[in-house]
Parts: sequence; C-alpha cells; structure tokens
Amino acid sequence: MALELSILYRGSLSSCNYGCEYCPFAKRTNTAAELAIDKAELDRFVNWVESREPDDKIGILFTPWGEALIHRYYQSAIARLSHLPQVTKVAIQTNLACDLDWVKDCNLDTLALWTTFHPTEVSLDRFLQQCQKLDLAQVKYSVGIVGLKEHQYQAQLLRQELDPNVYLWVNAYKRQPDYYHPDDLNLFTQIDPLFPINNQVYDTFGKPCHTGDRVITVDGEGTIRRCHFISDSIGNIYDPNFAASLFPRNCQNQVCRCHIGYVHLPGLNLDKVYGNGILERIPRYRINHS
Ligand code: SF4
Ligand code: SF4
Repeated sequence: MALELSILYRGSLSSCNYGCEYCPFAKRTNTAAELAIDKAELDRFVNWVESREPDDKIGILFTPWGEALIHRYYQSAIARLSHLPQVTKVAIQTNLACDLDWVKDCNLDTLALWTTFHPTEVSLDRFLQQCQKLDLAQVKYSVGIVGLKEHQYQAQLLRQELDPNVYLWVNAYKRQPDYYHPDDLNLFTQIDPLFPINNQVYDTFGKPCHTGDRVITVDGEGTIRRCHFISDSIGNIYDPNFAASLFPRNCQNQVCRCHIGYVHLPGLNLDKVYGNGILERIPRYRINHS
C-alpha cells in the first residue's frame, strides 16, 4: 500500500543569522564540523525519501532550529526533493534572508515557503523585495509575523504592501497571560482573520491527533517522534519496518499551543481551511483581510 505521510524534519542545525529577542530556539553558532554533520544527516534523509516508492505521497516541512536556507546544502536538498515523484510538497520555515537564485532549480508545483518577517532584524523594504522575487518566480509562500504589540504598525504596513493574494499570518504572543487588549485583538484579526484560531491554547489530552499516524517529526538521526512537543521516540525511518510504528493515537499532552501541532487535530477541521497548503500555512481560499 502506498505510503501517505507528512514529515516535519528538524536536523541538528542550531544556528541563525538573526538574533530575535523572542526566538524560542537556541542562539548558537554551528562549527564547520557541526554543519558537516547536519549536511550528512540531510543527505541521508533526502536519499531515503528518494528510495521510497514513486506512488508514495510524502509531504515535507523543514522546521529548523535556526535558519537553514542560508546554507547551500539546504537549497540543493530542497530543489532535489521538489522533483521527486513521491514528494507532494516540500516546504521550509525561513526568515527569507537567503539569496533566492536557487528557486529556479525547483519544481514549483511542490515547492512552498513558510516565511517570517522579523522587524528587529531586517527592514520592511528588504523583506518585501524578497517577497517580490518570490512573486516574480511564482513561488508559493505564506508570510508571518509574531504578534507583539510593538510590531503592530509594521504588521499593518506589511499587509498593505504584500500582494493581496499572499496570506499574512500573525502568531499570537502567548508567553504573557492576558497580553492583548481587545483593541489589539481587533487589529491583529483585521490583518489575519485566522488570528483567533492561533490565539488559543487547546486542551488536547486524550484527544485524537493525526500525528504519529499521518504526520511525524524526524530528526537528523532518523528518530521518529509524533510531533515536536512530545519527546518520546516511536521508531526510526531508517528501520525498514518503520511504518509499523505509525497508527492513530490520542494526545498525551495537556495542551497544544503551536500551529504546526494543532492543525493536525481532526476535531478542529483545519484541513478544510488549509487543504494541501497545510504544511506551508497557506489557506486554500483567499483570506479577506480588511
Ligand atoms: S529568524 Fe527565527 S530562528 Fe532566527 S533568531 Fe529569529 S526567530 Fe530565531
Ligand atoms: S495535539 Fe499537539 S501536542 Fe498533542 S500530539 Fe498533536 S501535535 Fe502533539
């Protein structure tokens, strides 16, 4: 039977060219030796995907612990994956600081980018120039911003300047309880009508979730976890029998806070909102922002 699987890949890369204050990831510099390990892991993963049956359907979202696209080996890996018959989608979370020449080597039917604008790290003009390059190259992408109150003006400008067909999401800032005033909620909901879905903490204990069955996370060693928020290993993709460890499971965490997790809760029906853009966070219909 053909395999249908979405994979969130996070290798050992743990460095970034930006230094956002709100960054949830380790801010480190990788040594050349560490990057060589990350590249070898990535090569192994791409070879594994390539060795799957051509009628398998594999969607991949790279969720690096830092910025990956500034490294040519990630650009080449994504270009290669995008042309494989068994790859239905290859997407990556990125700050879009990289040069974009490599996208011409990709299959645009499967490539998509999950981009984020970080106002303290790059000018709006520079970020928009990068978006225009993606528009010209006809690359599918979403744009996001962290919903800090001090970034509201930049978020409004970004919404005004982006192509109206490009979805701009706002990630709710949830680290501080009662952070938002009703006016803030209105403003962010005008920019991103799906903001109220993100501005929640979902009670998930004991509820069905597609992760561990149709969606998994994989690290550089091939270890499978059901999602990025539950650390138990459930197998390894380099084990020929790995598919036996994929079956429906209920969530064992009390809550789920993050888009890349809760979108896989069948009870939320968000597959109807995102369709086959679920990995790169692109809704299947145009979102009417005001
Ligand atoms: S661009 Fe992303 S990974 Fe890099 S510092 Fe900012 S939030 Fe962290
Ligand atoms: S609901 Fe969230 S935390 Fe629970 S299994 Fe799904 S993705 Fe993981």
